[in-house]
Amino acid sequence: MGNSVNSEIQRLKSKIAALEQLLEVYEKSVLEQTDKLYEEITERKRTEEIVRESEEKFRAISTSAKDAIIMMDNDGKISFWNEAAEKIFSYTSQEAVNKELHPLIVPQRYFEAFRKGFIKFKITGEGPVIGRTQELMALNKDGSEFPVELSLSALKIKNKWCALGILRDITERKQAEEKLNNALKERDASMNNLKHLMEFSTTMRDETQEKVLVTNVSKALKRQFNPDILAVLLIDSETKMLDIPVIEPPMAIEKFIKDEVIFNPLLCRAINTGQEVFAKDINEGICCTCIRNVVDTGASICIPLTGGGSTFGVVILIKKEMGYWDEEQYKLMLGYIEIATSSFTRSRLLESTRRASITDPLTGVYNRRFFDEMLEKQIAFAKRHNQQISLLIMDIDHFKIFNDTYGHMVGDRILQKLTKTVKEIIRSSDMLSRYGGEEFSIIMPSADIAEALNKAEAIRKHVESNCSEAAISGESHKITISIGVASFPGHGADFDSLLSTADNALYKAKKSGRNRVEKP
Ligand code: GH3
Ligand code: MG
Ligand code: MG
Repeated sequence: MGNSVNSEIQRLKSKIAALEQLLEVYEKSVLEQTDKLYEEITERKRTEEIVRESEEKFRAISTSAKDAIIMMDNDGKISFWNEAAEKIFSYTSQEAVNKELHPLIVPQRYFEAFRKGFIKFKITGEGPVIGRTQELMALNKDGSEFPVELSLSALKIKNKWCALGILRDITERKQAEEKLNNALKERDASMNNLKHLMEFSTTMRDETQEKVLVTNVSKALKRQFNPDILAVLLIDSETKMLDIPVIEPPMAIEKFIKDEVIFNPLLCRAINTGQEVFAKDINEGICCTCIRNVVDTGASICIPLTGGGSTFGVVILIKKEMGYWDEEQYKLMLGYIEIATSSFTRSRLLESTRRASITDPLTGVYNRRFFDEMLEKQIAFAKRHNQQISLLIMDIDHFKIFNDTYGHMVGDRILQKLTKTVKEIIRSSDMLSRYGGEEFSIIMPSADIAEALNKAEAIRKHVESNCSEAAISGESHKITISIGVASFPGHGADFDSLLSTADNALYKAKKSGRNRVEKP
């Protein structure tokens, strides 16, 4: 795994460790706050007792209390307002006493519930919140709301039920709880990211097929980053053109990217520079110019796939919502792409090695090794499925003369011209191999002898009319070929017999005057 993935993993791990430490601190602070609260409640209970005993004592205590102590009379008006209440609600005792309590310090949404409860309370001194401690929001003089813990009790004064409320501002405790929750969420998210990155790395590690790699990458990127548009663009190693195996949601390629980029991938800035191109706002700053206007607003990122000394593709993610991805996610994307890049590079290297091992370097067609293996496999397959196969062996007529007259270089050129000419007329399922010096073979899966003879004749004619060599003298010399055709199983039920029958047919063609097709 590469350095930036390792450092991404390290970063996520140390982030998780730091978050865990933070969690401990927050947990401790919440516990402390809770302990404190219990002490206060006990204290409050005691206060309530004392209040009942003596109003004078009550006033002394209420002055020094940190909690707001508020009394409401039988008409719903404030009859007592201590110093702490002045601080917490920003109303002086003068401003508060004799005012209706609810419009002053209770948010409007609680009014209806209070109205209902109060009717009964006035008569019985009972209610759903009496004798209980609960958390709710209160209103400050400046109009702001803040959380309080309220403990309510009922007392009878002059034969009328009054309510005594003790309120504590719990803003700080709530903030600590929120911090704790956020830190917990962040830790879980980091752990999830790490888990997904590891999973992705595992699925990519053992895979060598480019097609499967592309599917894995697009699935992982969609799950992790939820882009509105995702595209994977790869440079074809032969044509050097851009191939687009993934555009999601599907759309016509020309609607997504400018045509000229398909033919000249270097017009893509990310491919050209090997550097990612971020556009946090696609309408401002540096932006990829080769993508068409697929979205009106949003963010895009083009990340090049660079490995083995060259850039061979680019992954594009687009989100209509600006700011959807933060710095952390951009870093994570690079981690994903690095894993993808190393898998693609390995897959391409394996593919080019495999291709080289079965390709004739002079003509670029398959070599003898491929032919031997493929013919064996095709015969086995045809046997199992009760099918036919045809084999063409062709040889250049009087090739020695060209070689002897103009030299090997010209001879080589003729071999290249011939294969090019033959490829023009065969199907992609027909496999052309260089069988030996100036002899070539074509395996035609599931073709019978009639079909094969037709094809052989078409090839012969096509070569006769289209393949010539001007050589050094400037004279044009026509190249012709002779072809022997044989079919499995009629002319040979195994590799050796099929091959030698086709060879014999070729010999027959040579003997009967060359530039012709013969069957056994
Ligand atoms: P025929 O019509 O009977 O096939 O006559 P021919 O001259 O083509 O037959 P022959 O098999 O006698 O000659 C094949 C020649 O092909 C001999 C060899 O010098 C030449 N040859 C084989 N491989 C190569 C190659 O890679 N490059 C070049 N330039 N010549 C090659
Ligand atoms: Mg020959
Ligand atoms: Mg020959």
